[in-house]
Amino acid sequence: MTSPDAISPTGARVLAIVNQKGGVGKTTTAINLSTALAANGLRCLVIDLDPQGNASTGLNCHADERDGTTYEALAGEKTLQDVIRETDVPRLDLAPASIDLSGADVEFVDDPTRAHRLKSMLDEADENLPVRKRYDFIIIDCPPSLNLLTVNAMTAAEAVLVPLQCEFFALEGLSQLLGTVRRVQQNLNPDLRIDGIVLTMYDQRNRLSSQVADDVRDNLGDVVYSTLIPRNVRLSEAPSHAMPALVYDPKCAGSRAYVDLAAELLQRTKTQKAA
Ligand code: ATP
Ligand code: MG
Repeated sequence: MTSPDAISPTGARVLAIVNQKGGVGKTTTAINLSTALAANGLRCLVIDLDPQGNASTGLNCHADERDGTTYEALAGEKTLQDVIRETDVPRLDLAPASIDLSGADVEFVDDPTRAHRLKSMLDEADENLPVRKRYDFIIIDCPPSLNLLTVNAMTAAEAVLVPLQCEFFALEGLSQLLGTVRRVQQNLNPDLRIDGIVLTMYDQRNRLSSQVADDVRDNLGDVVYSTLIPRNVRLSEAPSHAMPALVYDPKCAGSRAYVDLAAELLQRTKTQKAA
């Protein structure tokens, strides 16, 4: 494991895990990548912005235990600090979601600053340090939609990480996603970058998987992480035990892949800092 750098004076690296396609591995990536980063000694926060609340449940915060939620923070009823809680994983905190988030698009429609709500919450200072300055990494789990919640995540983030499932239609919808990233760059967050695309549910016994992986690399080049997340049953079992796979079965192929992805992400961070 690498030794962590101190939190940078500008604060956490904020990554939005985005893909408007459902079931491609966003939440699995948010949970296990943040757990792998925390295992590296880094302080991490998962912000659950999906009304489904899968990242919250997967980190052992069940719907009836969520006293404060990201909805309440976005609605201005609570501060983000108020809704953050520790998880069972050392150094990993969570801002849990609730189903109320599903009304956010309509509810905030009259607010001209509605896309900046999450960003403002990260920078808000009370007697404590702003949330952004308390972590090394903040990972935002987005819903399967390019809606206001995802736009809030992209406005607050420095980069997006896109999980792409190794299936026939993998690239379908990607141009729409990249179009949204461009619009956010133009109108809301000029510094937003694409940190990388991670191929998920890779099945080495299936020729289609490797064809898709080759195709995606040919089309998109270096933006695709070299780490491949395999299709691995332990990754899909872990949430029903309310644990990250890295805790449930640290040695399984899926857990090891997320450790590799974290290492690759940290390596990219160093290269970007040096540039
Ligand atoms: P949604 O769009 O609904 O939020 P998502 O993109 O967050 O979905 P996940 O919830 O992470 O996707 O994954 C979808 C399903 O696939 C889950 O049941 C999950 O456990 C399973 N899964 C995710 N990644 C893998 C993998 N690499 N191998 C096997 N199963 C996986
Ligand atoms: Mg999800």
